Order: sequence, then C-alpha cells, then structure tokens
Amino acid sequence: MPIRILSESVAAQIAAGEVVERPASVVKELIENALDAQARSIRVEVQGGGRKLIRVSDDGCGIPAEEAPIAFARHATSKLQRIEDLDHLQTLGFRGEALASIASVARVTMLTRHVEAQVGTFLRVEGGRLLEQRAEGTPQGTILSVEDLFFNAPARLKFLKSELTERRQIESVLMRYAMAYPDVRFSLSQDGRLSFATSGNGNLADVLVETFGLEIVQQLLPIQPPEGEHPPIAIYGYTSAPTLHRNTRAYITLFVNGRHIQDTSLNHAVVQAYRTLMPEDRYPIAVLMIVMSPAEVDVNVHPTKAEVRFRAPEAVFSAVQRAVRRAVLGAGSGLPTFTGFSAEPDQPWRALSAPPKAQAAMRLNTEDSGRHTQQIATGGAPDSLPEEGSTQRPRSLPPMRVVGQVAATYIVAEAPAGLYLIDQHAAHERILYEEYMRAQAQRKPSAQRTLQPFSLSVPPAILRLIEENTESLRALGFEIEPFGANMVRVHAVPAVLSKHNPSEAVAEVLADLESGRAVGESALEAQLIKRICKAAAVKAGQILSYTEMNDLLRQLERCEHPLSCPHGRPTLIHISAAQLAKEFGRT
Ligand code: ADP
Ligand code: MG
Repeated sequence: MPIRILSESVAAQIAAGEVVERPASVVKELIENALDAQARSIRVEVQGGGRKLIRVSDDGCGIPAEEAPIAFARHATSKLQRIEDLDHLQTLGFRGEALASIASVARVTMLTRHVEAQVGTFLRVEGGRLLEQRAEGTPQGTILSVEDLFFNAPARLKFLKSELTERRQIESVLMRYAMAYPDVRFSLSQDGRLSFATSGNGNLADVLVETFGLEIVQQLLPIQPPEGEHPPIAIYGYTSAPTLHRNTRAYITLFVNGRHIQDTSLNHAVVQAYRTLMPEDRYPIAVLMIVMSPAEVDVNVHPTKAEVRFRAPEAVFSAVQRAVRRAVLGAGSGLPTFTGFSAEPDQPWRALSAPPKAQAAMRLNTEDSGRHTQQIATGGAPDSLPEEGSTQRPRSLPPMRVVGQVAATYIVAEAPAGLYLIDQHAAHERILYEEYMRAQAQRKPSAQRTLQPFSLSVPPAILRLIEENTESLRALGFEIEPFGANMVRVHAVPAVLSKHNPSEAVAEVLADLESGRAVGESALEAQLIKRICKAAAVKAGQILSYTEMNDLLRQLERCEHPLSCPHGRPTLIHISAAQLAKEFGRT
C-alpha cells in the first residue's frame, strides 16, 4: 500500500481508542466535563452497562450555541491555550479530546444552555459527523447522551467485558468522583434503578457511608494536617483502623488535586504506614486527598490522566506515609474488643472491632456511638485519649491480673473491664520487637551481648555470604566469623535475643541471607528483625509459670503498640464485662 494520510474520521477513531476504552471511560470524561463546568449536581443514567446509553446531565455553565459544534472537534478546549497553562491548571480536562473521541465511536446528542443564553442548543453528532443543530429550550447546563457506543468499531465491542462488569466499573467511577467532590450531588441510575447517590452536603464521611457502608466508616480514622499547619503537600481523608483490612490494595483510593490517580508507590506508602500493625498480606481501606501546587505535578503523562508524575515523588511519598501513620497511631490503636463468637471463626481477628475515635470528627450520629463510647470507658482505656498530634503516648492496655493459661498457648487475664486472652507467642514477639527496635534506635554497640561463643556448621555458599555481609550483620548486633572450611563461630548476638534462643536467631539470619535477601537495606532489616523475634519468642505449647506470665503481661503493657505482633496478628482478645453479661443472659 502506498503511504497516505488517514482520513479525519479514521484518525479520530484510532485516537479514540486511547481515551474511550470502555463505557466507564465515557462516564469519566463526561463527569469531568460537568465538574469543570462548575456543576453542583450531576446525574448519570446508564442502560445496558453503558453500551446502549450513557446520559450525563449537569447544571453547570453550559456551552454557548456558536461554540457547541466546536466542542466536538479534536483538540478543542476552553481550558488551556498556552502550554504554560498546565502549571496552574484548575480543571480536570485540558486535552480537548474527549468529546471528539466519544463522538467518533458513538451516536451523541447534546442539549445545552449557557448561563447567559436565553435559549438552548440541540446537537446531534454520529461517527464524528455533525448531523443536526437547532435551538431548543432547556434549563441551564448540559445533557450529553451517548448511544450505541462502538457501533462503528466492532473490534472494540468484542473487548468489552460482561454487562455486570461494565456496570461495576461505571459505579466505581461515580463513587470516586463523589469522594473527591463531596459538595457536588451525584446520582447514578442503571437500567432505571437508582444505584448510587450522594447529597452534595460537602461531608466526605457521608459520601463514604454511601460508598462503603456505615459499619466500615465507623472504623475509619480521619486524616488532616495538624492544626495550624499548612504543609505544601497536604493530606486529607480517611484511613482504616489497623483492625480493618482487606485482601487487596484496591480499597486504597488516591486523589491529587481532585483527580483520581493510580500510583503504586503511593499505595505502598499507605501500606507501609501500617507496618507491624496489620498482617503483611492485608491492606487498609483508605481515601486520601493529596493537595499540592499544580506546578509540582505533571498530569499530562497519560491520555486518561490516570497516572501523574510528581516533581518530588519522595516528598509526596513521605507526606502520605507520615499523614497515615499519624492518624493510625494518634488513634491509640484502639483496644480490640470481642464482639461475638459467630464471625469467621478461622480468622478471629476479623471479629475484632476497634472503637472508632474517628466518629466524633466525622459528624456521624449513629446509635452505635453510645455503645462504642461505653466500650472505651469501660475498656480500661484512658478516659481522655490524647489529641491528635500529641506526643503523649496512648496507654491502651489496662493493668491485667493473670488468671491462668489455656492450652499452653494463651494466657487468661482479668481487669475491671472483663476478660483478656493473650496469645503468649504473639505478645512475646511484640515485646522482643520493640526492645530490639529501641536498642537499634540508640545504636548502642553495648547492646550486643558477647556469649560463650558457639560454632555452627554452614554450607560454603552461606559462608561466602556471611563474609560479604559482615558489616550489616554487625549493625544488627550479630558477630559471626568464618571458622574453618564450613563452620562459623558466633561471638555475639543482639542482647534482646541472647537470653532466649540465640542459635535459632542466627539460623534465621542465615536463612535470610541464603534466600537472597540483603541484610543491610533498612526495609528488609525490619523484615529480618521480625523473623528473628518470631524465632526467639516463647512458643505456643510452652507451659509458663505464673511469674513468667506476669512478667510477659507487664512488658506487654509497656509496649508502644501492644495490640498486635510485628506481623500484624492480634496479641490479645478482650471479652468485655458487658459481653460476658450478655452471653450469660444477665442483661
Ligand atoms: P476538555 O475537557 O479536555 O477541554 P472535551 O472534549 O472533554 O475537552 O470538551 C471540549 C470542550 O467542551 C470543553 O473544553 C468545554 O469547553 C466544553 N464542554 C464539554 N462538556 C461540557 C459541559 N458538560 N459543560 C460545559 N462545557 C462543556
Ligand atoms: Mg473533558
């Protein structure tokens, strides 16, 4: 074939592929246009998962009659003129591609009336061609209807997922914008049934109740900059209490300046903030608004603008991580309270619910709040939880009295607020972990304890690794020296471990070295420390004396985060006096 320039309509269809991948992308673009037009109310109607019809109605500024047809031309936009405008962009759109792309692969009508116009305009565009334009009466705003999506692009149609999947996708688009714009009223109806709606009262927590349900929202902690501070990167939103988690990262939702973004590294920042407070394969629910200067973020990376580029990615990463961490720790991690035997017996910690301190801040009036308040009051937690940002450490464990041991695994204890079951291994892991981290933080070489040196036989490969990592090992508190052809001699182990199980701790370190994990890198270091503590901690199945149990509880009480082991499993379960009374039918 000879080289020829593509016709306008073929070029448009090809380009449309980037912007309009599926019905949900049409919904996204139309909602963004409505938001850019300052709409206060946005209604979305969908039929057949968006293939048959997508109609978005807004009460925004509308489009003047003479500009209406231009809106469908490629690279036609009212939002930007010079490339420098990108640095102080206030709108979601700027590429001038969406309407052109949508109109090239669907039958589109637009009914719009500009704020200053007496009468509206009706327009019909099909496969990119303007077929009709006339004056028509309509309220201020714009109604855009997209019918028969991909009617002229059968290849695209084939790639669409089931109607149900498309409906879900559309719904999550709506939910995301509703979160980012709580002061705008949104509604979505699919096949004539209202499936999602918000009030537009400006309260994010209310939107989250519509999105996740009340029960989850009650377990979310608010995030905002400390009072009186105006950081250049400000983080607002909600994040889950450590006891609330999911098996996917999909519940972490991020916005930058009102734009939903996908960013693996920032997801990681959120997850990292829960280190040691949540099981490692579990993920929090979080909705974060990152607010920063538009000049610091490049949104022109991707046609759908789902990814952005930060001028200073590390600064954003640490701002997010710090904000989430502060919210999580500020909440005093909440004493897990046993709420019934029925919920998921194989994962007991899922039956735990943290009394949400967030509640007051979220202005949620629920009957539940009374019950939770009572739990806090009787749960032995301090009467006045420290204010957010306060340096005073929340004391979340009451003094407990040892009653006995069950199955050589759990310590039974009591306090005025009821009964406590403590997982001795998990609790000890937490204690060792914090001891170790404290010693590490002070970097006291004296924290190393020289033992009676002992020898271990190791394969030559490991011997080489030990030689390569001598310094890192020393930093962790291990002094291990090659000793002959296939032996090492251990001269010192970290003090916290020496009294427990030094050879297992060494074996753990060596196993990690063997599996290719570097010892020195700090993230991996924490990982390693957890493994060491696990190895050194008292085991389940070990019978403990009264004094040993008592010591363990005293030490646990002194921990900063006594409620979970370093791997995020709970250390204790509380059955409140009220719960006991209820189970025995006393109330
Ligand atoms: P962009 O949003 O990138 O500017 P679009 O193709 O989405 O490009 O829209 C083209 C133009 O049409 C917009 O710049 C805006 O001026 C106008 N427009 C589109 N939708 C609306 C709407 N709902 N209300 C008011 N104006 C709109
Ligand atoms: Mg647009």
